[in-house]
Amino acid sequence: MQVLVYGAGQLAQMMYLDGAALGIDVQAVDVSNNTVVHPVSKQPLDCSLEQAIERADVLTVEFEHVPEALLETAEQSGKLHPNKDAILVGADRVREKALLERLNIPNCAHRIVTDLTQLDECVEALGERLIIKASRDGYDGYGQWRLSQKADLPALKKQLEGLDLVRVPLVVEQMLKFDREVSLIGARNVSGDIKVYPLAENLHYQGQLHVSVAPATNSDDALTAKALEIFSKLVEGMDYVGVLAVELFQCGDTLLVNELAPRVHNSGHWTQAGADTSQFENHLRAVLDLPLGDTTNIGGDAAVSAMVNIIGCDDHDLALLGLPGVHFNWYGKTVRNKRKMGHINVTASGYKALGSKLEQLSGYLSADHFPELVDEAARLQ
Ligand code: ATP
Ligand code: MG
Ligand code: MG
Repeated sequence: MQVLVYGAGQLAQMMYLDGAALGIDVQAVDVSNNTVVHPVSKQPLDCSLEQAIERADVLTVEFEHVPEALLETAEQSGKLHPNKDAILVGADRVREKALLERLNIPNCAHRIVTDLTQLDECVEALGERLIIKASRDGYDGYGQWRLSQKADLPALKKQLEGLDLVRVPLVVEQMLKFDREVSLIGARNVSGDIKVYPLAENLHYQGQLHVSVAPATNSDDALTAKALEIFSKLVEGMDYVGVLAVELFQCGDTLLVNELAPRVHNSGHWTQAGADTSQFENHLRAVLDLPLGDTTNIGGDAAVSAMVNIIGCDDHDLALLGLPGVHFNWYGKTVRNKRKMGHINVTASGYKALGSKLEQLSGYLSADHFPELVDEAARLQ
């Protein structure tokens, strides 16, 4: 079986690694030059994109910002999962908000802005604490601006002056005071079977995911049921096939959808070590219409996992491999500020043990690059 992934980053690499065990050959498309490459070495393979599309059983994506013309060709082959519209929902916040409204799924109060003069109405309607997001091409908090008081509005408008808002509108959201961020990752296969992982609790720092813990602490059955209801509405509503990640804000017992990722997701990396079947394998199973694998944590009801991102550095001490339950993943990229370089998965028999393992792990990592790890370790203990 052959799967062609648009995008040749770490997510395609991890699909490749899990696919190999099932006899699934994963190839990747570098969308910057339309070449077909090996997902690990990134070396060009000896075939054109057209040939690779022809040979593949399924086409899929590892990120949503694939040029629309490429998606169109992929869709026309009849082999693309998830479908083009679902991918575009993840790539465009205007479409995303429209979908959430259509399906009646709670999300942040917002306005769509195509002209800077509309920002005054936004402040009137939503209040003066706002988060302003470019509707396309943003990730890891890039393409976002914040307003904390009305007096700063003229300065903000100046900053936004050069943007072509007719082509790429802004989505202006009320700045929420949520209790925490969680995400639900699940899969739906071609036959329509659905499986979801336990909710993950996500710790962000400067707009970027740093640590995930799964299952989320204090997640009762009612919260899990709410998340599942949102997930089911979304996948049915989009006729979605593959892994879908839903980023959520929790306010009391309410869940609001922040955004959708039509793909495997950073907050699901813990599943490689902590779940019976990883999100990468389940994505491949879903798009190839194979039975979905078990999504529960390995090691019984109390078992828990964490994922720690290695961001903008490579000065870790590999002696950390000696810690039990610690698994290291490296993407082979050149170091850049704020770039995701790799991640570490940690499994434990309970939250207290997980906290203690994270504390030990922090001894092998430079505190500068892992600003919240020690606090997170202490919180869990
Ligand atoms: P990602 O890398 O997850 O794709 P992104 O750049 O697409 O990130 P968002 O997920 O929309 O951006 O926002 C990044 C982070 O900013 C969120 O995880 C959250 O911490 C914060 N944030 C976003 N929207 C709001 C909001 N309305 N109120 C409060 N905080 C918010
Ligand atoms: Mg995003
Ligand atoms: Mg996000």
